[in-house]
Amino acid sequence: MWVPPVPIGNGVVFLGIITAPRGTADILPADARRWHELEEAARAVFDAYGYGEIRTPIFEHTELFQRGIGEATDVVDKEMYTFMDRGDRSLTLRPEGTAGVVRAVLEHNMDKGALPVKLYYMGPMFRYERPQAGRARQFHQVGAECLGTMDPAADAEMIRMPATLLKRVGVTNFEVLINSIGCPRCRPAYVERLRAHLADRREQLCASCRERYDRNPLRLLDCKRESCRRLTEDVPQLVDSLCDGCASHFQQVRAYLDDFGLPYRLAPRLVRGLDYYTKTVFELVSSDLGAQDALGGGGRYDGLVETLGGPPMPGVGFAAGMERILLVMAKYRPAPAPKPVDAMIAHHGAAGRRIAVRLAGEWRDAGLRVEIDYMDRSLRAQMKQADRLGARLVVIIGEDEASRGVVRVRDMATGEEREMRAEEVFQSLMQKGG
Ligand code: AMP
Repeated sequence: MWVPPVPIGNGVVFLGIITAPRGTADILPADARRWHELEEAARAVFDAYGYGEIRTPIFEHTELFQRGIGEATDVVDKEMYTFMDRGDRSLTLRPEGTAGVVRAVLEHNMDKGALPVKLYYMGPMFRYERPQAGRARQFHQVGAECLGTMDPAADAEMIRMPATLLKRVGVTNFEVLINSIGCPRCRPAYVERLRAHLADRREQLCASCRERYDRNPLRLLDCKRESCRRLTEDVPQLVDSLCDGCASHFQQVRAYLDDFGLPYRLAPRLVRGLDYYTKTVFELVSSDLGAQDALGGGGRYDGLVETLGGPPMPGVGFAAGMERILLVMAKYRPAPAPKPVDAMIAHHGAAGRRIAVRLAGEWRDAGLRVEIDYMDRSLRAQMKQADRLGARLVVIIGEDEASRGVVRVRDMATGEEREMRAEEVFQSLMQKGG
């Protein structure tokens, strides 16, 4: 929130504190430890599946998302952070990761190398949505893309990877929902059946659904309004309208999931919010979340590469919301404690301080976690500080120690103190494994 300047007398103006923009959040060090836990688990899972990391720009040409995600989607239509830069180019903060990854694959000719191309990413995404629990304007996704294969095993793995990740971080209360939304051969006929079925109910639908009816009828199935749900309760099901190719693909994906022993539920109304999906779509939902219950989702997008100017090339991917996973993680796991400090170097007097600063630098270079006081605290207060930080050892260097070339070492567990040479302390710290 921006606070207007307030005059507080004598010509001084209190400018107020500037807070973070609505829908954004700071990740403070205690939270960051959880983020690291999730990020490390994700890297380990992707590594096992042979995915390499890709980092694409936070902003892209607006056209990439218009073409890739589809103009008739809520994301492109209502939620993008789009701006003109100083060179009069229309740029957009990425609302999702797939379009940028596909753009990069084409730009770097990865599609012409060994297939499939297997990439993963983690990072912030931006959508102008109404913030609420589990929904932000800047949020983070972890996701993967597998380009160049039609193999249903790739779809099954793409569902299994996020499921494995969730389990690794202690999240077990989730459900996998799957559906198939067909391909450009069978979907248009379904869309027409859907339209015909709802033609005489169109006027009773909500305003958004009336618009969807005209522009993007599949999204009708996704409306959360009770009245729309009732009106669309008896619509024909997508899975019953699939062509032979799509039906067989879906059947194989399910067979692999069965082989994995990964339970799933068929969700005939699951359509997802982005236009590029074909065949398999899926979501991982958790009752530990509120109204925004999706931890992640994804699907196959066999037309996207071509839409973005590349060759015909199938693809499948997923993206999961990191904040939402962390919300559920927090329910089941305590936050990781900060790593203990190996040594606090307490000092007194100018000579002691000089030695302390030099030693701290050297020991840190060797990989030890070392703290030192910058606040001119008394020795007593530095000891307290060491205790608070959980330091195992305090190395004390006063005027006397400095002049005699020794340090006093206090073992914080036993309270024992003895005099040693700094080099000896360093060696013993290194031997203890830092
Ligand atoms: P989507 O690309 O919309 O399928 O999003 C994939 C996942 O990202 C969702 O299942 C959520 O976990 C997460 N997500 C999407 N939008 C938001 C948002 N506005 N705030 C927080 N997480 C989000």
